[in-house]
Amino acid sequence: MYIDSLQLRNFRNYKENVIDFSKNYNIIYGENAQGKTNIVEAIFLCASGRSHRTSKDIELVNINSNSYDIKLDATKNQEKTNIEISYEREKKKVIKINEIPLKKMGNLMGNLLAVIFSPEDLSVINEGPSQRRRFIDITLSQIKPSYFYDLQLYNKILLQRNSLLKELQNNRGLIDTLDIWDEKIADIGSRIIKARHEFINRLNKAAKYNHSILSDNNENIEINYSSSVETDNYEDIDKIKANILMDFKRYRYIELKRNTTLKGPHRDDYEIFINNLDVKSFGSQGQKRTVILSIKLSELQIIKEETGEYPVLLLDDVMSELDYKRREILFDNINHIQTFITCTEKDIFDKKDFKDLLFVNVKNGNTIIKNI
Ligand code: ATP
Ligand code: MG
Repeated sequence: MYIDSLQLRNFRNYKENVIDFSKNYNIIYGENAQGKTNIVEAIFLCASGRSHRTSKDIELVNINSNSYDIKLDATKNQEKTNIEISYEREKKKVIKINEIPLKKMGNLMGNLLAVIFSPEDLSVINEGPSQRRRFIDITLSQIKPSYFYDLQLYNKILLQRNSLLKELQNNRGLIDTLDIWDEKIADIGSRIIKARHEFINRLNKAAKYNHSILSDNNENIEINYSSSVETDNYEDIDKIKANILMDFKRYRYIELKRNTTLKGPHRDDYEIFINNLDVKSFGSQGQKRTVILSIKLSELQIIKEETGEYPVLLLDDVMSELDYKRREILFDNINHIQTFITCTEKDIFDKKDFKDLLFVNVKNGNTIIKNI
């Protein structure tokens, strides 16, 4: 799929701006703090319903305004789709697809498929399990809207179960109601764990291939799913569910003491190894970046396999971090995908004979299209 155009009104440092994109390479260049990442952010917002930099919509509104609007036209399966996101201070975000307002945010998923690679992605390696879960949750939600709904429901029920655990401190009479929540959590939780396990396995396979190319066959990557719920068969949903319920029984005493749910997908994690060493502790900066790149390229392939369409690729500030060889391998792998690349210097692209190469110069919230 590809994006035809993007229109921003009072979004970040843009007052009023329209860009018609190339179907292939879009090089968004300019000095620091001009608004390059803001373009990528607006595109990613249309794909996932949220910014990759902040969870606060208010930060996205231009400081001199009270509302922002984003309009994006895309072509998917030869059909045109229009996505519109509007937000007004202190109101709820309104999302429209082909002018029809969405009742649920989940309905946005899958309309615009996008994979983003930005400096923040290093947090998948460097930070805690919630960052790692967030990464797979975003991709799985794009592929499978039912996963997004499960996740939302799970988080709601988890909050309710935790507050019941707290309430039980003073009112032990409610203990039987805990069984009802356990059943619900185990039901949805097992679906989430199964989907994540499947996804990590696929990611592992694809990343092995991509990483060996990127590292000249010198490195072997291994991504291992590690769930707080143990089972010998993560393909068997009934088994996962039974094990969650068993864990709840086993941990009930501690959970009642700590007032929190100790087992379930909200405690999931995965580990990434290179040549049997944990990347988080032993990887160099360049190695970590290459790992993320292998994972992102794998994500592109998985989304294509699942949806029949290649997503658009957003590369924010990553070109300067990759060496010449890795950049060339990356270009070879993405020449059939619409890509948005932000950079401060465009010279590495000046001599490229890419078809459909568009240069977008960004200056203080304005864009100028430049031909080579
Ligand atoms: P770099 O090369 O440093 O990554 P960039 O071109 O990617 O820079 P962006 O992050 O896209 O920069 O934009 C940053 C600019 O946007 C800053 O000048 C910042 O002050 C401005 N900005 C951010 N949010 C708002 C807002 N809500 N209202 C007005 N301006 C904003
Ligand atoms: Mg930037």
